[in-house]
Amino acid sequence: MNLRRFRIAARLSIGLGLIVAFMIALIVLGIVSMNRLNERLEELASRTTVKIWYATMIQDSVHVIDNAILNMIVAREEPTTAMEYVRVMTARKTCENAMEALAKLEETRYGTEILRRMQQNLEQAARENSRVIELARTGRHRQAAGTFLETSRTTGSVVRQVCSELVGYEKEEANASYLAATRTYRFTSFMFVIMGLTVLGTASSAAVLLTRSITAPLKQAVHVANRLGSGDLSVEIDASGRDETAWLLTAMKEMADKLKKLGEVEHQLVQSQKLETVGRFAGGIAHDFNNMLGVILGNTQLMKMQNPGAQKVVERCTVIESAVMRASDFIKQLLAFSRRQILEFKPVRLDEMVREFEKMMRRMLRENIDMRIVAHSDLAFIKVDTAQINQVILNLVVNAREAMPDGGVLTIETDVVVIDSDFCSFHPVAKTGTYVVLSVSDTGVGMSPDVVENIFEPFFTTKETGTGLGLSVVYGIIRQHGGFIDVVSEPGRGTSFSVYLPSSTEKPAQATSRTEGGSMKGGGETVLVVEDDSDLRETVSDLLKLLGYRVLTARDGEEGVRVFRKHCGEVDLVLLDTVMPKKSGFEAYREMDLIRPAVPSLFVTGYNAVHGGRSEEDTNGACVIQKPYSVEVLSRRIREMLDGRQQERSAQADGVIPPAVPPAALPGS
Ligand code: ADP
Repeated sequence: MNLRRFRIAARLSIGLGLIVAFMIALIVLGIVSMNRLNERLEELASRTTVKIWYATMIQDSVHVIDNAILNMIVAREEPTTAMEYVRVMTARKTCENAMEALAKLEETRYGTEILRRMQQNLEQAARENSRVIELARTGRHRQAAGTFLETSRTTGSVVRQVCSELVGYEKEEANASYLAATRTYRFTSFMFVIMGLTVLGTASSAAVLLTRSITAPLKQAVHVANRLGSGDLSVEIDASGRDETAWLLTAMKEMADKLKKLGEVEHQLVQSQKLETVGRFAGGIAHDFNNMLGVILGNTQLMKMQNPGAQKVVERCTVIESAVMRASDFIKQLLAFSRRQILEFKPVRLDEMVREFEKMMRRMLRENIDMRIVAHSDLAFIKVDTAQINQVILNLVVNAREAMPDGGVLTIETDVVVIDSDFCSFHPVAKTGTYVVLSVSDTGVGMSPDVVENIFEPFFTTKETGTGLGLSVVYGIIRQHGGFIDVVSEPGRGTSFSVYLPSSTEKPAQATSRTEGGSMKGGGETVLVVEDDSDLRETVSDLLKLLGYRVLTARDGEEGVRVFRKHCGEVDLVLLDTVMPKKSGFEAYREMDLIRPAVPSLFVTGYNAVHGGRSEEDTNGACVIQKPYSVEVLSRRIREMLDGRQQERSAQADGVIPPAVPPAALPGS
C-alpha cells in the first residue's frame, strides 16, 4: 500500500517537517544577526583606529612644521631653509588630507565641533607659520624667532591639544559603541535563548499533541481489545476518526457487534436447552403421576359402580374424581410444556381458527379492553392440534388482559412470513421455510429484560396468584408443533408475542363425527391387560371384569407376549401400556402381531414417549388413549374396537380386506 495512504505516517511527516523547518529558520536568522553584529563591531573598531591615526598624523605634522620652522630660523642658510620649507609644506598638505579624511569619517556632532576647532587652529597656525617663514626667509631671523615663540608655537600646541581631545573623544565614542554593541550582543543572545526555548516548547507541544492524536486512539484500541479479550462486549467504541487506528476500532466494533449477536444466539440456545431439560424432567414426573391418578380414578369409579345405592359414597367418589381430573389437567399442562402430549394434528387455517375463537375471547375481556383482529384471509394451512393452539391463544390473551388492568388495546394478527437463513442465524430454534404467524400484542405494563429472560420457565410468575405455567405451556405446544415463539416487550409500552407455525401443504379432509356416550358393557370377551404398574393393572382388571370382560394380565411387554402366545386363540383385545420395562407396548404388540396378525389393540399412555415428536407419527394411527382415563372412555374405546373387529370379520366374510396397521410402521421399528 502506498505510504501516503497511511494518515498517521502523513501526519507524523508533516509535524516533524514543520518542526525541522522552524528550527532551520531560527538557525539561519541567528547566523545572519550575529554576522551583522560582528561586521558592525569591526567597522566601529577600524573607523576609531583610522580616526585616531589621522589625529595622530595631524599632531605629528604640526610637530614636523614646528620643527622645520625652528630649523629654518636657526640654520640661516639658504639650502636648509629651502629644504625645511618643503618639509613645512608637505606636513601642511598631510594635515589638510588628514583633516579632510577625518571630516568624512566623523558622524557625531561633538566630533565635528572638535574638527571645526582644529581646522580653525590649523588655519590660524598656518597663517602665523607663514609670517614666521617669511621673516626667516628674508633674513630676519631674530624677529622670526620672536614671532614663532609668541604665536606659532602656542597655536601649534593648541592644535596638538585639540588633536588629543579628538583622540580622547574617539576612544570614548569607541568605548560607548563597544558597550552598546556588547549590550546588543547580549540582548540578541538572550532573544535567541528565548526563541530557542519557544521553539523547543512549541516543538514539544506539537510533538505531544501529535503523539496524543495517534496514541490516544491507540490507547483506546488497546483498552477495547483488553475488554473484548476479557469478554466484556458492552465496551463503548468510538471509531469516529479517519486514520488507521479508526479503521482498527471500526473492525473491533464490527467484531464486538458480531460477538454480541453470537452471544445472544448462544444465550437463546442455552435458554432453550434449559427449557428442554426442565421439560424432560416434568415429562418424567407426569408419567408416574398419571399412573397414580389412574389408580385413584379407577378405584373411585369401581367404588361408585360397586355401591350404586350408597349416596354418600357416590358423592365422595365424585369429589375425588373431580380432584383427580383437576390434577390431571395440571399434569396435562406439564406434558404440554414438556411436549409429551398426544396431539391430534389436522390441517386448518389460522385466520379461521382466530375468527371462530373470537366470541370466546371477547367474553373473557373487560369492556375497557379494545380487541382488534387483523386476520389475513390468504393464509397458508397449518397442521395443528386445534385444541392446543386455542390453548396457546387463550393463554396469550389472558396474559395480555392481565397486563392491562386499566384497559388498552389488544391486537391479534395473523400473517404469513418466509424465514430465511439470516433470520435463523439469530434464532437457533428456527428453520427456514414458510410460517404462519400469530401475533398477540397489548399496550399493557410490558416487561423488563430480566422478566423476559424467564417467562417460558415453568412456575415463573410475577403475579401473586399466578401459576407460572401459562407461557411454559405455550412454549411446549408451539415447539411440539415444530414452531417457535418470539417476544418483544418494553416496560410501560406493552408486549407483543409472535407465534410462528410451519405452513402445511395438506388440505383438510371431510369432517367425521364421533359418537360420545356413557360406558359400554362387555360381552364376556377376553382382554389381555399389559401394564407394569401393579396397582393400575389391578384396578383396570377389576374395572374390566365389572364391565363384563374376561381379563388376563401381564407385568411387562415380555410377559405380555408370553401370555398372548399361551392364550393366543382366546384373546379378543390387547390393552397395552406404551412405556414399560424390558419391552415397550409397541414392541410387544409387534411380536403378538407375528403370532396372530391384526389382533385389536388399545394403547394406553401417560405421555408421548418420543420427546417432542408428533404423536400421530408415533402411533401411526393406532388407537391410543391417555392416562388417566375414565371408565366411560375405556369401555367405549374397547367396545368400538371389538365392534369394529366384528364388522371387519363380516366384511372379510363378504370378500373385503380391511386395512390393518402394519406393525413395522409403529415406532421403534
Ligand atoms: P402466570 O400468568 O401464571 O404468571 P405465565 O407463564 O403465563 O404465568 O406468565 C409468566 C410471567 O410472564 C407473568 O407472571 C408476567 O410477569 C409475564 N407476562 C406474560 N405475558 C405478559 C404480558 N402480555 N405483559 C406483561 N407481562 C407478561
